[in-house]
Formats: sequence, structure tokens, C-alpha cells
Amino acid sequence: MAAQVVDGKAIAGAIRREVQAETQTLAAKRGRRPGLAVILVGEDPASVTYVRNKVKACEEVGIKSVQIHRPATVAREELLDIIHGLNKDETIDGILVQLPLPLHIGERSILEAVDPAKDVDGFHPSNLGGLLTGNPFFVASTPLGIMEVLDRFGVVVEGKHAVIVGWSTIVGKPTAFLLLERRATVTVCQEWTRTLAQHTQQADILIVAAGKPGLVREDMVKEGAVVIDVGINRVEGRLVGDVDFASVSPKASVITPVPGGVGPLTVAMLLKSTLMAYKARNAPKK
Ligand code: NAD
Repeated sequence: MAAQVVDGKAIAGAIRREVQAETQTLAAKRGRRPGLAVILVGEDPASVTYVRNKVKACEEVGIKSVQIHRPATVAREELLDIIHGLNKDETIDGILVQLPLPLHIGERSILEAVDPAKDVDGFHPSNLGGLLTGNPFFVASTPLGIMEVLDRFGVVVEGKHAVIVGWSTIVGKPTAFLLLERRATVTVCQEWTRTLAQHTQQADILIVAAGKPGLVREDMVKEGAVVIDVGINRVEGRLVGDVDFASVSPKASVITPVPGGVGPLTVAMLLKSTLMAYKARNAPKK
């Protein structure tokens, strides 16, 4: 039986409409819109596109967005000053630093400077710690998007074997903890994993975030598996995932395409997290 193909754009559209409605109601009551600051360093074309999409999405749902763009040569101190200013800015609820940053800056020091209460990407150690201890507040948008797909398709996670290919702090690791919290048995594979196929073949839920086009083929997937393809790769001018969609989709029960799968959900979940930050900052102090 052919897989159900996830329409990420449609799900993202529904989430955006929910965020827009709540933003309008709250902003009217409080006299202030939620605000997201997006920091972009350098001119990496993919990063420029991602930032443009995020800023546009904010405006569409009524979230104020402030874009701060510095050249790749920017000093770490200047970036730290910018972040400290945004931390104090009452009109800013969320701060997002578009990754990757140039090596000389030291990504960790920048991410750790963001106020955890404004860390909508969930990369501050205090938010990562919350995830580890089963008490998450902000979680990275892509893992949230993955969970949204599983939930919207009624995928039962408890007791299932989830195999994740890729262990980045942006995708693989947070997704592993979210799935563990939902009582899945989780296997995390990375580029040093021997016999990758033996692991992926065991997966009831297979999540692939390696950045390697065509890494997962039909013979690596169990019949009826839920397959979430996070990869975004440009091949001969076309965007493709890490999963060979044509051969895997007849075998899967649910599958996300690239483009149009997890990507749109990542942006939608960022909007949701920004609204959550705004709500938490405006909540009356106990
Ligand atoms: P990353 O480079 O930080 O991590 C890649 C991971 O894949 C590493 O853990 C690495 O060990 C593993 N890996 C690489 N080759 C492998 C192999 N042959 N076998 C097993 N594991 C292997 O990348 P990332 O930031 O996590 O992104 C991964 C992919 O997801 C990229 O294509 C990226 O563009 C995409 N991405 C998409 C979204 C989205 O919104 N859809 C968001 C973030 C990242």
C-alpha cells in the first residue's frame, strides 16, 4: 500500500492560522505585538533564504520581526553586545541566531549569551537541560515539527522503536529526547555507525537528518515504517532529502517529502515558540 504523504505546507498553514488568531487577540489586549529578533551573520545563501522566510512568516501572522545582519568578519564582542541589548529589550520576546556562525566567533558562546527566556530555538544549555530532564520549555523548531507530524498522523510512539540518523544539537539529539519522553525505544546513528542499514531496518519510526542525499534506500526500511526525512540537499539545482522518496514511499506507511514536508513545519513551530515566549513574559508574576 502506498504511504500517506505528509503535506507539511498544509499542516504549517493550520498552525500559522492558530498563531495568527491568538496573536491578534493577545496583542489587542496587551497593546503590544510579540517580537522576534533574527540575527544573521555573513551571506551564506541558504541562511539568507531561511532568515527571509522566517521574517516573512512572522509578518504574516502579526509577529514583529527585527532582522540584524552583520558581515562574516564581525567580532564576537559586537555580537555579544547585540544579544545583551536584545535580552534587555522589552519589545523583543524571542532571539534567534541563524546557524552556522563563522568559526572564529565560537557558536556556543553566542548561544549561551541569549536569555533562556527568549531562546526560542532552545539551544541555550538551560533549555537543553530542561529537555534532558523531561521538563522542556523551549525546544528546537525542527524536532517540534517532527513531533507535530507524528501527532497529526496519529502515530503511536509509546513502545515503538524509533531510529534517528544524525545526532546534531539542532535535530537528532533533541528529537531523541522528545521520543524517549514519549516512551519510544530510541537508537541514534551517526556517520561512525557501522551497518547503518541493520539499524534502520528495525525502525517503526525512522527519522533521517544527515544531510546526505539518497542515504536511505528502499532496502533499508521496514515495511509500514513511518519515515520522516529532515534532510535538505541541493542536487543539480533541485532540493532533495536524505531518503530516496521514489523507492521508499511504496514501503512506508507515512512519509514526508522534500521539499514540502518538515521544512514548512520548522518555520511554523518557530512562530509558535515566539508566541509562547511572549505569553510567558507577559504572564503575571506569582
Ligand atoms: P549536521 O551536519 O550538524 O549533522 C549531520 C549528522 O548526520 C551528524 O550527526 C552526522 O554524524 C550524521 N551523518 C552524516 N553522514 C552520515 C551517514 N552516512 N550515516 C549516518 N549518519 C550520518 O546537520 P543538521 O544540522 O542536523 O542537518 C541535517 C540535515 O537536515 C541537513 O540536510 C539540513 O539541511 C537539514 N535540516 C533541515 C531542517 C528543516 O527544517 N527541514 C532543519 C535543520 C536541518
